[in-house]
Amino acid sequence: MTLKIGVLASQGAFAEHVASMEKLGTAAAEIRLPQELDGVDGLIIPGGESTTISLLMNSYDLFTKIKTMVKAGLPLFGTCAGMIMMAKTVIGNHSETLGLMDITVKRNAFGRQVDSFETEVDIPVLGKKPFPAVFIRAPLITSCESPAEVLAGLKDGTIVAAREGKLLVTSFHPELTVDLRFHKYFLDIVKGK
Ligand code: GLN
Repeated sequence: MTLKIGVLASQGAFAEHVASMEKLGTAAAEIRLPQELDGVDGLIIPGGESTTISLLMNSYDLFTKIKTMVKAGLPLFGTCAGMIMMAKTVIGNHSETLGLMDITVKRNAFGRQVDSFETEVDIPVLGKKPFPAVFIRAPLITSCESPAEVLAGLKDGTIVAAREGKLLVTSFHPELTVDLRFHKYFLDIVKGK
């Protein structure tokens, strides 16, 4: 099966997600307009600035089409700001979001002194080797409500990755590392594995 993954390219780290998919031998297309979503098998919403992504998604009329496609089964992978866009509840948020996943997130939750950091995270679904996770002004998941499931937490218990059916989110940026296991995991979801 030849897959095509869309990467929302309104703003943020979309080029790195396209590159990660291409390294896995999967075609990836930048998405800026609703009609460009036709024919994609999965969609990635990258990190960036969620307020800006929200404004641009609104201007280009992307909200309704993405929500309709997800309800019809489109797999979605949100990283960092992308995760904020997918959460049903965002603490203190005033921007429009997709509100698709049963998680509550808090923006810029790691405090100023640790705005950006890299740490190894155990992610059992990816195997024994810890994942090099890059956090940049990251949001965290303050609660994960059923049917959403926790995929990874930091040593202090902070939830940083979750899945709900075909919806996948991370607080960190897997596209900024050479480790492609998270992108491969998303492709397995797209393939229905
Ligand atoms: N701080 C950003 C926000 O609140 C997210 C940062 C990121 O995506 N790296 O939208």
